[in-house]
Amino acid sequence: MPGAPFGAAAGRGASLRSIGTRLLLAVALPASVVALLGTAAAWRQTDAAVREKTRADAVGLAEFVATSFGTVDDTRPGTPPRVAHRAVTNAVRSDWSAMKLVTELRIVDRQGVVRWSRRIEEEDKVLPDAQRLLAVTAGRASFETPPGLSPLGGGGGDVIYPLGGVACGGCHTGEATMRAGVLQLVVGESALRRQVAEVFFQATGFVVAFVVALALLVFVAVRVFVSRRVARLSAVMKRVEDGDLVVRAPDLGQDELGQLARAYNKMLARLTALKASEIDTQRDLDHARTELSLKAELETRVGELQILYDLARTITSTLELNEVLARIAQVVPKQLKVPKFSIMLLNGEGLLEVLKAFPANVGSEGLTFSVGEGICGHAAATRKDVYVPDLEIDGSFRIRGGAGARGRGCLLAVPMVHGDELLGVLNFERPEKADFSAEEIEFFTAVAGQAAMAVQNARLHEQTVALSVTDPLTGIPNRRYLFQQLDAEIVRANRFGTQLSVLMIDIDHFKHLNDTAGHSAGDEVLKQVSSILRNTVRKVDTVARYGGEEFLVLLPQIARPEAQEVAEKLRRSVEESVVQHARAQPGGKVTISVGVANLPGDAAERVKLVDCADSALYASKRGGRNRVTAYQPGMELDPTRQRGPHAQRRRTGEVPLTRA
Ligand code: GH3
Ligand code: MG
Ligand code: MG
Repeated sequence: MPGAPFGAAAGRGASLRSIGTRLLLAVALPASVVALLGTAAAWRQTDAAVREKTRADAVGLAEFVATSFGTVDDTRPGTPPRVAHRAVTNAVRSDWSAMKLVTELRIVDRQGVVRWSRRIEEEDKVLPDAQRLLAVTAGRASFETPPGLSPLGGGGGDVIYPLGGVACGGCHTGEATMRAGVLQLVVGESALRRQVAEVFFQATGFVVAFVVALALLVFVAVRVFVSRRVARLSAVMKRVEDGDLVVRAPDLGQDELGQLARAYNKMLARLTALKASEIDTQRDLDHARTELSLKAELETRVGELQILYDLARTITSTLELNEVLARIAQVVPKQLKVPKFSIMLLNGEGLLEVLKAFPANVGSEGLTFSVGEGICGHAAATRKDVYVPDLEIDGSFRIRGGAGARGRGCLLAVPMVHGDELLGVLNFERPEKADFSAEEIEFFTAVAGQAAMAVQNARLHEQTVALSVTDPLTGIPNRRYLFQQLDAEIVRANRFGTQLSVLMIDIDHFKHLNDTAGHSAGDEVLKQVSSILRNTVRKVDTVARYGGEEFLVLLPQIARPEAQEVAEKLRRSVEESVVQHARAQPGGKVTISVGVANLPGDAAERVKLVDCADSALYASKRGGRNRVTAYQPGMELDPTRQRGPHAQRRRTGEVPLTRA
């Protein structure tokens, strides 16, 4: 968070390092320029003053020399002028300080001949530049300052005076007096320059020394008062930038930097408090997040438990296996959001058979897979979940129908195991790839456990029910089932107006067989006869043990004549079958007698119908046994018919199932 401002501070810190140089440049450079400009201006002033002064001196000197001619004592007539001027000549040739700057001083006459000069070798010789001098003074009175007086500097310091006139009248006469010649005085510029340069160099040296001293002063001052302190503050800022919020700026005094350090410390204190508060907030936030995630986790678990509970309640609310499977196939896809689902159970042949599927009626019901075949078969073989996240690319399992038959999305096959027994497999399929989370797979395993339990309960129930309606000796339905079935068939026949025939069958001379071959042999014969009866009738017919050695056969939708045919077929089958222990019987055969009754022809309800069959059976017995007799009205009134307690119980259904 503090990166940007601290980064900016670091940038400023870097520029702060050059603050001394910048201050130096800001102060010393202008000062140097000002000093140099001042020196130049001073030089100009000095130069002008020197030139002015020199010019004035030169003019004054020239005037002095010129006028000296007039003040010469030696003015007696006949005295040669040169002698008269000797005193002045000597004076100007001397070391007189005023003459030090004068490089040339000469008098030139009208003919251009140097009459006398500071340099003696020039005297009496024609001056090459004489015409210019004479031209300047032409027409002017002596001692009059001519306008052609050249300025000093530049073209040289010439002072030219015309000589002659009254002042010369003492010694000179006539034209020669009025225009005796000119006086030329030249001041050497180099000397002047040297003087000015000397002054200039002195001034410049002073300026340089001043600038250096100033720079040093500024450098030391900046270092002591600014740079070091700023560096200390900058070091603190750098540590803060690196995340150390505990560090504080040192006491930098009372000036602006000190105030800055104090303000920075205050800001740091606030920042530290803010950071602490942020840490607290973050901790609270993390805590809240953890709690929220725990709550969400808890809600998920509660939701799963609720689903599991609903599922268990729904599928265990019935003990009928088909209904259990139907409910699983209905609830699981909806509650677990699985668009494709199937239940497989191990069938009697040891194959995994799809019994229910969602969506239903798409052709998967009835498909069978070997254990070990494909994904579901692998789950069954290993008794472990098999999860295929991407059906399209997974090549681990052989797909029936080839690669083209591979589905899309993901598939989870979970085995249903109860104890050590494999019951079947649940297949969960989703159209998206890798759409099952690890938690879901775990949960679906629990669902499969519940389903396995429900299936097992239904199967146990089925077995119990089967046992309760099965005769343990012969394995065919007992009279409890018989009467349920008989009632159901009577209802159906009445509703649809169809016929129902019943056959009452009794083994002939069975007591004799028991008595001669023993009860075990009698039991064996009972099993064989029941087997023959069951194998001879249609699947829709019911063969049940009625009691003792008596059987009842229900023939739905069979009229009397066909029923008589069936009865005859049964009688013949028993008679013709090689039955063990038959030799003990009269005629060496086990035979049966059959009575046939029909609904609605003979009776309209159960008791009456059974009674009619029983009466017909009695008629068969009476008729000599090993025969079939159809009921005829009045048979039950036969006075010779056995009316003992056994026959009574037979009619009412109270006869015990077996002796054993
Ligand atoms: P009928 O030809 O007139 O039918 O003579 P029957 O001897 O077969 O008839 P009866 O009623 O006199 O005898 C039936 C015998 O069946 C009596 C009983 O001991 C025997 N019995 C009944 N139930 C069983 C059974 O479960 N096992 C054996 N071994 N015998 C049984
Ligand atoms: Mg019998
Ligand atoms: Mg009997």
